[in-house]
Amino acid sequence: MNNNVNSLYVLSAMNRSGYRTTTTRRKIIDAIFSLGNSFTVDDLIQNLPDLGRATIFRNVKVLKDLQIICQVFLDNGQSVYQLDFELNLESHHHHLICSKCKCIQEFNSKELESLLQSVSEAMSFEINTHRLELYGHCSSCKASEPVEVSVSDR
Ligand SMILES: [Zn+2]
Ligand SMILES: [Zn+2]
Ligand SMILES: [Zn+2]
Repeated sequence: MNNNVNSLYVLSAMNRSGYRTTTTRRKIIDAIFSLGNSFTVDDLIQNLPDLGRATIFRNVKVLKDLQIICQVFLDNGQSVYQLDFELNLESHHHHLICSKCKCIQEFNSKELESLLQSVSEAMSFEINTHRLELYGHCSSCKASEPVEVSVSDR
């Protein structure tokens, strides 16, 4: 994540969209930063026992609508949220999710989007939205996997 991104940066992004800085929002955003890479609403609820669930849900929705955080769907059916500053704000993107270290990387691809556009045309189907998450092993987890020794090499 970009090191310039901090709570104040998020609060000013919210301000620009008409959301005032309140103590509650400040607490929620600080908790998101302290949770690190990705978090669930339950994580926030546990970390902010003095705030009501409804307040936390409402603010998470605002952050998601403003595309400050994005929702990532895991292969076990759960979803987590993460701060969305690796790419530009408001840019459509997809996720690479490592099943070993749980890291989540973001990518976008013009080729992929134009492929979907041609599927849409070929099927006469109007696509409103789509989601794509790729599951596997990231480069550092792949590097730490033991090298298989072939039997015929003995
Ligand atoms: Zn994302
Ligand atoms: Zn990994
Ligand atoms: Zn896409």
